[in-house]
Amino acid sequence: MAHYDVVVAGGGPAGCMAAKYAALSGARTLILEEHAEIGSPVQCAGLISRRALHESGIHPQRCIVSDIRGFTAYSPSLIDIHADYNGAVVIRRDFFDRELAMSAVRAGADIMTHAKVVAVKRERTVSVLKVKTLKDRATSEPHFTEIRAKVVVGADGAGSIVARYSGLESGSERSNLLKCVQVECAYDTSENAEIFVSSRIAPGFFAWAVPAGNLVARIGLCADTRISPDRSPFDLLESLFRHPVVSKRISCIEGSRGNKINKINKISRNSQNTKKTNAWRKVFALNAGVIPVARNLKFPTFSTEKGVLLVGDAAAQVKPVSGGGVFYSIKCGKIAGEKAAEAALSGDMSYLAEYERSWMHMLGREISFGLRIHKLRCRLGDHDFDAIFSALKHADVMDAVKEGDMDFPSGVLIRILREILRHPKLLKSLAKIISMYAKL
Ligand SMILES: Cc1cc2nc3c(=O)[nH]c(=O)nc-3n(C[C@H](O)[C@H](O)[C@H](O)COP(=O)(O)OP(=O)(O)OC[C@H]3O[C@@H](n4cnc5c(N)ncnc54)[C@H](O)[C@@H]3O)c2cc1C
Repeated sequence: MAHYDVVVAGGGPAGCMAAKYAALSGARTLILEEHAEIGSPVQCAGLISRRALHESGIHPQRCIVSDIRGFTAYSPSLIDIHADYNGAVVIRRDFFDRELAMSAVRAGADIMTHAKVVAVKRERTVSVLKVKTLKDRATSEPHFTEIRAKVVVGADGAGSIVARYSGLESGSERSNLLKCVQVECAYDTSENAEIFVSSRIAPGFFAWAVPAGNLVARIGLCADTRISPDRSPFDLLESLFRHPVVSKRISCIEGSRGNKINKINKISRNSQNTKKTNAWRKVFALNAGVIPVARNLKFPTFSTEKGVLLVGDAAAQVKPVSGGGVFYSIKCGKIAGEKAAEAALSGDMSYLAEYERSWMHMLGREISFGLRIHKLRCRLGDHDFDAIFSALKHADVMDAVKEGDMDFPSGVLIRILREILRHPKLLKSLAKIISMYAKL
């Protein structure tokens, strides 16, 4: 039976970073990834901060597909607001994850793909992981093996098996699992990421169009389906395709019959195209997934008794405002790897508690603030969002975004709020929403 100091379940950004730093700290480390390849299938828009890319240690040229120059957001009735912002890039997540895995291997970690953790049990000071793998890759015949570890890192996503077998909250116990669906398709892109707020398209969250290279975008949505349980994400995607901005940007790619791209001159505010959309003809890839927005921050992300810690989506380390999880996975993955190695090499499991103190110190306040904003967002109607957009447009506060930080969005939101408080007329128009927020 193979024996490691640290075994990491899951080869996403959180798992690869944890493995890299566990190996760099001197621990014999193994990553177990259930899929045949690291980085596939992709379930991500790939929009991350330049800082996240820098902290990952990956060379930008290896994975950037677009540089972002700003954000344009549309309210339900198409009031648009724009903010310049040059701190973001769009990456190819499959390349990114593979580069992260390679850097873990270069640091000394081993990787096993086609290796799904199906159970974990603790035997005194060692965990035994039951792993479903392949007896023979040529025939795909399943085979079960056991691997021993002094410390197990659960980086196995929102439905973490490691969490479940360790008595820690997993899946919908720990988080609200927001449903997402996304396509990659032909699109008349600019260098702006677009955001669409509307209860018809993305109840409780928002939809996006993120440039992913020349005339290609990732268009998707995330929805809190508790708000409109009768509508599936695919149904909502059809509504997104019909959104006036999205449908024009898709339909103005006219193909190869000598037509050039028609630039959009004006988006009609009244355009309500209810015909069945032809957008599917321009789609190259479709994926669906979940974003785990924490229910609260009270659930532990470690167990000293079981020699386990959780990181990334498994620990609901996601920005509740935007759903972004890559930056937090990288930051928390590094701490998780270092603390897991210290615990495994010393035999002192109290290092696992240090992991939680450390990441909570870094992100706890930010996530708590984001959870309040998400709660508020779920209670607002389309007319409330229109009022907010119209206030932001008139208050000319979008410069706050330019100087803001997408990894710590609370700073921007607080600055915008302060700006609004200085305008009595705006304050009056948003009084109801501000008082709703205060009561949360
Ligand atoms: C549609 C969509 C768009 C998104 N867009 C963005 C974005 O633009 N920017 C951003 O920052 N974030 C985005 N996110 C969130 C981001 O993708 C996640 O937060 C991030 O991938 C979390 O990293 P992770 O390593 O914790 O989990 P994952 O990336 O999910 O990796 C978990 C890994 O564990 C493996 N695994 C699972 N179970 C087992 C098991 N039992 N045994 C072995 N292996 C297992 C999985 O195969 C997977 O490889 C998006 C999410 C979705 C769904």
